[in-house]
Amino acid sequence: MATKKLYDDMPYETTFDAEVLSCEKKDDSTYLLILDRTLFFPEEGGQTPDTGVLRMTTDHGDKVAYIKDVQIDKKDTITHYSDTAFAPGDKVSGEIEWMHRYTNMQCHTGEHIISGIIHRLYGYDNTGFHLSENIVTMDYNGPIEDSDIAEIEWIANEAVINNVPVNCSYPDSDTLKTLPYRSKKELDGPIRIVEIPGVDICACCAPHVRSTGEVGMIKILSADSYKGGMRLSILCGFRALEDYGDKHSLILSLGQRLSANRDTLEDAVIAKDDEIFSLKGRILTLEELLLKKEAECIPPGEKNPCLFTEGLSNITVRNGVNSLTKTHPGYCAVFNGNDTEGYSYIIGSANKDCREMLSHLKTKFDIKGGGSPDMIQGRLLANGSDIKSVFQAF
Ligand SMILES: [Zn+2]
Repeated sequence: MATKKLYDDMPYETTFDAEVLSCEKKDDSTYLLILDRTLFFPEEGGQTPDTGVLRMTTDHGDKVAYIKDVQIDKKDTITHYSDTAFAPGDKVSGEIEWMHRYTNMQCHTGEHIISGIIHRLYGYDNTGFHLSENIVTMDYNGPIEDSDIAEIEWIANEAVINNVPVNCSYPDSDTLKTLPYRSKKELDGPIRIVEIPGVDICACCAPHVRSTGEVGMIKILSADSYKGGMRLSILCGFRALEDYGDKHSLILSLGQRLSANRDTLEDAVIAKDDEIFSLKGRILTLEELLLKKEAECIPPGEKNPCLFTEGLSNITVRNGVNSLTKTHPGYCAVFNGNDTEGYSYIIGSANKDCREMLSHLKTKFDIKGGGSPDMIQGRLLANGSDIKSVFQAF
């Protein structure tokens, strides 16, 4: 049996009275409630449901149930997922979480404005829609140039400033035939038309704000290619304001760290990048100098020379091994690390197969790695002096 949808005609009401028609236990903390009427908008058309509470006065005080989910079936029966049980015939009063509902209404109406504009300018349909607490996404079945996105956003915000009424109605079938409304799917039964004159006309079941001015700012956050068309993400009204606040705080915080303001922040980040790049270069130079000094301490002609270092970059270790193979016979290695955490190693040779050294080390240590005849690399956990004696004994 269809539940009476109070939100259809009264999207601005927050409280209502209803009678419990049935209550079925789903699990230990969830009961499926069906009421004769409800203000709770169910999850439908890509939009998350309303949340809120149901209350009932009993001899033992007020009974309060939290409604965590609301679903609708094909017969328009709306099921409330309650954390508390009721009995058929109970008289309850409900209250929806208004801020959640209202910000949904702002974002949802914003979606109509953007979709109407894109339909008018490009002829594209809205083929997907998702509205949750954090983001609204809409999919369109055709491409849009990046350079057009800002213009769409501007026209959408002009529609907000113009404060056009948002009209919802159930036209009769003859009238419906004459209306050029957008629809995501074939619809059965009475069709609810939401019209924003000059902006959009669309079949839609959800609550909307009364006029476009209430949508507040519409901000397109991203526009990406998706399945041959586009996926746009937007935020509107209070959620856009909240997002602006978060980003503003981020800029202030980054500005404080970099001693910059909004106008100089980008330059400060670029300067910091340049400084990091330059410092990395200096570190590499110093690392190579350090390793070179270490290598100079190895007697010329020593078999299987190996160096033990800590904290060097992989590229320095590799360059060090390559240098050693030019001046020393056999296997040349750099072990980079310490006895506690283990060593990463690179072993190279100008005249031997390094994989044979790996096999040799595997007989003595728990060692990981691999490579080519010229060079192997990996990690092992062992004492440095043990590694050196086993390495040089091969
Ligand atoms: Zn709608």
